[in-house]
Amino acid sequence: MQVSHYLARFRERIVPILLGPPVLAFLPALALAAFWLGGEMALVLTSLGLPLLFAFLGLYGREAGRGISRDSVTGFMLREGFDAELDRVFGQTAEGSLRSACFVVQIDDIRSVSDQHGHGAADIVVNRMGERILSVLRDNDTVARLGDARFAICLAPVRQLDLELCIQLAGRIQTAVEDPVPVDGIAIYMSCSVGFCLRNRAPEGSSRQWFEAASDALIEAGLHGPSVIRSFTRDIQKRSAARQDLRDDATRALETGQIRPWFQPQVCTDTGRVSGFEALARWNHPRHGLLPPDEFLPMLSELGLMERLGDIILAGSMTALRAWDAAGAAVPRVAVNVGTDQLRDPALTDRVRWELDRNNLTADRLAVEIVETVVSERPDDMVTRNIRSLADLGCVIELDDFGTGHASISAIRRFRISRIKIDRSFILKADRDPEQQRLIGAILSMAERLDLDTVAEGVETVGEHALLAQLGCGHVQGFGIGRPMPFEQTLPWLDEHRAKLSNVPEIRRNAG
Ligand code: C2E
Ligand code: CA
Ligand code: CA
Repeated sequence: MQVSHYLARFRERIVPILLGPPVLAFLPALALAAFWLGGEMALVLTSLGLPLLFAFLGLYGREAGRGISRDSVTGFMLREGFDAELDRVFGQTAEGSLRSACFVVQIDDIRSVSDQHGHGAADIVVNRMGERILSVLRDNDTVARLGDARFAICLAPVRQLDLELCIQLAGRIQTAVEDPVPVDGIAIYMSCSVGFCLRNRAPEGSSRQWFEAASDALIEAGLHGPSVIRSFTRDIQKRSAARQDLRDDATRALETGQIRPWFQPQVCTDTGRVSGFEALARWNHPRHGLLPPDEFLPMLSELGLMERLGDIILAGSMTALRAWDAAGAAVPRVAVNVGTDQLRDPALTDRVRWELDRNNLTADRLAVEIVETVVSERPDDMVTRNIRSLADLGCVIELDDFGTGHASISAIRRFRISRIKIDRSFILKADRDPEQQRLIGAILSMAERLDLDTVAEGVETVGEHALLAQLGCGHVQGFGIGRPMPFEQTLPWLDEHRAKLSNVPEIRRNAG
């Protein structure tokens, strides 16, 4: 018992020394000294003894294990090796006298680097970030590269470690990441989000749950990000379980009609007539009630279900157009939101054409809303081709969230944009804020010169509506006109709107 205890302590002390790179420098000297002092026999004993000592200390297994799981290009440990190390530390810290923490670090928005500067640049950036993360850790902490731009860290067990120290470390990681990275003569600025979980706050169970706790904290950081730090809490665990629930339900929800388009009206500022509806996705969840897209779109995107959602919204919009036509309600057009996931689909235009044909509708009845950032951030070939072929087909291409994404005039021309949708941030309190009015005025005069139609979103008050009409904005959309509603409510809403319009001239006539 005593002997094995001493052996274990000896092993604990000697292993870090033997594993350190400097020890290699002494090996030739050791062999030479053995030969010199003890002759051939001593040389043989040393050469055989050293490997035997390593074997006794169990170093071959460890090194081999580590070797397998390292990324050959970056030298970082991969997931498999990390899991083994985390498991070892999990065991070591079980009774609580030693402490550790697991961190997961995500470089924010790496996709925009590859979109703007290419994949090579993104690789350089991520590698540099990895080196910097390493530089703020101690030698015996473990770092692994998990995905494109994600790193996991397991701190070597220590006696003192608390929330404060972990937050400080996460802050140091962020500072290191935020230094600009020079790539081809340009400085690229990055940030990162960090989620972590102290070993003593991890859910009971296994190292796997510890890692998941840190990953959940990172997801939470991502939801509030960029550049946010979150520590694992029970609340985070609950929210993560709820998200997992939704994830499990998502495919079924799409197939059973729980996820459907709702419709928000847009009216023409000249005539007051309805000029279209925007289709907005809603999930009517049997337990959680009505969910807005922000709560499920990121998840559908992760699950690769955005194309399926796009099909459902498109089909629902076509059905609605046909029903409005059949009811004699003059609704010229429906606008659907098309995200990058869908724009990367080579079959997008074919699907749209097929859906229009199937419903016997012309392409000008469909507007495709694309957020301004997609157009301004040098989209890849597929995205560019899709936007152009949708325009060729005759769909109206509309730039959503205009004013937030820095699209150039040449991009507006290249992508054959025919309408811009002025972002809600410009409209808010515009009737009382001269600065907002100047900005809207500038956008509208640019649109006029470029012969672009305009629509303002987020119009909440009569004052904002009147101002936009006065400034010459073509159409308005917002809670002040009508909230998004399920299809069934659109027909009564249209009737009511028509009645209001026909009342207006009568009031004038009476007054005059
Ligand atoms: P968006 O395209 O900018 O849509 C406008 C959002 O503003 C909608 O939120 C709408 O309900 C809200 N809104 C409309 N009028 C007002 C107003 O007067 N005041 C305020 N405060 N908000 C107003 P929603 O429906 O939650 O959609 C959020 C985002 O989700 C959309 O932003 C769009 O980017 C995305 N989205 C919605 N449906 C789809 C879809 O079918 N496919 C894709 N790819 N994205 C979608
Ligand atoms: Ca939109
Ligand atoms: Ca918008």
